Amino acid sequence: MKDYIKHDEWQIIEEGFDPHLNKVSESIFSIGNGRMGQRANFEEEYSGETLRGSYVAGVYYPDKTRVGWWKNGYPEYFAKVLNAPNWIGIHISIDNQKLDLAKCKVEDFSRVLNMRTGLLNRSFAATFPDGKKVRVEAKRFCSMAHGEIGAIRYAITPLNFSSKAILSIYVDADVVNKDSNYDEKFWEEVYKEAAPGNAIVTAQTKKTLFHVTTGMHYTIEREGKPVSLDRINLEQREKFAGNIVQMELHEGKEVVIYKYAAVLSSENHAKTNLVEACHAVLAEAVGKGFDVLLREHTDVWAHKWEECDITIEGDIAAQQGIRFNIFQLTQTYTGEDERLNIGPKGFTGEKYGGSTYWDTEAYCLPFYLATASQKVARNLLVYRHKHLQRAIENAVKLGFTGGAALYPMVTMNGEECHNEWEITFEEIHRNGAIAYAIFDYVRYTGDEAYFGEHGLEVLIGISRFWEQRITWSADRNKFVMLGVTGPNEYENNVNNNWYTNYIATWTLGYTLQAIDYVKRNQADQFGALASRISFSEEKETSRWKDIIAKMHYPADERRSIFLQQDGFLDKEILTVNDLRPEDRPLNQKWSWDRILRSCFIKQADVLQGLYLFEDHFDNEIIRRNYDFYEPMTVHESSLSPCVHVILASRLGYKQNAYNLYLRTARLDLDDYNNDTEDGCHITSMAGTWMSVVKGFGGMRVKDGMLYFNPFLPDTWKSYSFRIEFRGRVIKVKVSRDGIQTILESGEPMTLGVADKTVALT
Ligand code: BGC
Repeated sequence: MKDYIKHDEWQIIEEGFDPHLNKVSESIFSIGNGRMGQRANFEEEYSGETLRGSYVAGVYYPDKTRVGWWKNGYPEYFAKVLNAPNWIGIHISIDNQKLDLAKCKVEDFSRVLNMRTGLLNRSFAATFPDGKKVRVEAKRFCSMAHGEIGAIRYAITPLNFSSKAILSIYVDADVVNKDSNYDEKFWEEVYKEAAPGNAIVTAQTKKTLFHVTTGMHYTIEREGKPVSLDRINLEQREKFAGNIVQMELHEGKEVVIYKYAAVLSSENHAKTNLVEACHAVLAEAVGKGFDVLLREHTDVWAHKWEECDITIEGDIAAQQGIRFNIFQLTQTYTGEDERLNIGPKGFTGEKYGGSTYWDTEAYCLPFYLATASQKVARNLLVYRHKHLQRAIENAVKLGFTGGAALYPMVTMNGEECHNEWEITFEEIHRNGAIAYAIFDYVRYTGDEAYFGEHGLEVLIGISRFWEQRITWSADRNKFVMLGVTGPNEYENNVNNNWYTNYIATWTLGYTLQAIDYVKRNQADQFGALASRISFSEEKETSRWKDIIAKMHYPADERRSIFLQQDGFLDKEILTVNDLRPEDRPLNQKWSWDRILRSCFIKQADVLQGLYLFEDHFDNEIIRRNYDFYEPMTVHESSLSPCVHVILASRLGYKQNAYNLYLRTARLDLDDYNNDTEDGCHITSMAGTWMSVVKGFGGMRVKDGMLYFNPFLPDTWKSYSFRIEFRGRVIKVKVSRDGIQTILESGEPMTLGVADKTVALT
């Protein structure tokens, strides 16, 4: 664990430059606006360790899968979150020496990400080999008010000299993905132009043919007045366009470079119109100027924070952690575009590929349900409905028939696109999460009309899959599910993963309820759907009922626990305390063979099921399972601790809940799993929010009513959060004085708070 980030309520602060931490910081200080984003790379050249990364939402590349032995059913390609053209570059050289923090002596370095305003600041003093010293202050943001605009204010002051400086200010589409399977480059040039003061490059992705046009315009000022530039040369090479500028630097006088960027993609503009539209966006940005753009950007953040901030008094580390999670999540996905989704690394890195995992439904949906308009959560469901046909085709490729749908573990467009086939392919539990999301949405919003519109069609597709995926075991006289991987990826190809079996039969039962609802309330829609998808209600539902009645769920009677899978108890049962610190994280220290044989659990699995279906089990069962599985869980998936926090809170294990909360909230800030350099764990950030609201706050929705059952962690003075629920905004504050619930807007309502019913007016 690294803990070099200073604790502060609203800011992420790094003081002093440690090149070994640079890639971790590049991830942590990432900025974005839902449409684009980037790692906190330096504007100037940097020859040290760095992972350069800019990303444009929805733009991906289907890299050819790399496998040793091709098997039928493998995904054709592995979709790369594409490293997109770089617009931040401002290279500086003075007397033939490059400003490069790997080569200069660096003092007073600080990087500060202001989460309230979404502004990234960096400052330092650098001394060149010949003793010349400059001070630099760089600020930049991706506008939340205008998704296609980014802006940089880069100020440089010569501290002990006057001399000529040469600047290269550019846009560069000659970028690579570090995770390219065959070291290929994915961009080709379509167009470029450069003129004094600006440059534009349009590049196209191979195969997917997305066009991205990246433009920049800059101005340079000294003491608030335009600087006369001695000479401007246009610089153009393949996929690259910029200006080389010569100008005088005067000792002690600050020079400010304002660089405005416009990033447009063919997802939002006609290809033929991209360059013209780019000019228009640049003109708008330049016309407004840095300060106005920043104010507009900050205003949007102020509004966002009003909707989703969580305040914690008395624990700065915890406060910073939760805000960091909310900040990163909000700048990854704004919910405005139903074609987009929430990638596990957002705009902070390449790893994982694809944009959509079960993470969206199982972890992110509850956050958006409670902190954004209903439309945002609905968009996330509609996204899967739009991919239903592809999910049916995915299932056909594996030999399923009759409209059975298997949603991909990882996708960009509905097709499976993951290349860790052996692990993720069998994680069919993802199908259950997509069904559960419909339940979660309807339970929270009351929008039952969604069944008839889209929900039921998705549920039937998934139920048809489960029906064909199970096997009748004559020996057991039960249905079984063979060859799966549960959420715990440290077990592969197991039989009867309890979680998967449970969510499968639950889906069948929920689909029966949805059918009943639609038949009674949306009869026309039911008739039309049944004939469109050739649904033989009688035949199909009677088989589903039979499966529900006869499913095998592995369990150990003696311990009164569910077994993660058949034979789990054959393992040597150890706890995390039996591991040596040098063994952690297991996925970096142990062979895969050893991991698979061990009892250690990567992430909540049986406990994931008990969290989703807690109403089906009494506290004693939940406690027994928690006591058994928690001690052997290594939480090497970021998705894990939050589930444990919610269960531990319910069970009254306050200290355990609090420790795990810190782990989820500060996972990236403190780099718990030693992998933040690859990017931040964006989807699990919603889990951090859940840890506070569902865990400590005990928020639940039952039969259309909202309940809270909060507790206050010992070290906190108070915490508070806001919830949107069925047209109302409710503020909840938990302090030593008790629980306060305030209806901030909307119709009067009743709530359950602890054991009481409270009327809010
Ligand atoms: C987890 C998966 C998750 C994926 C993307 C993996 O490490 O085990 O459950 O879907 O990361 O976040």
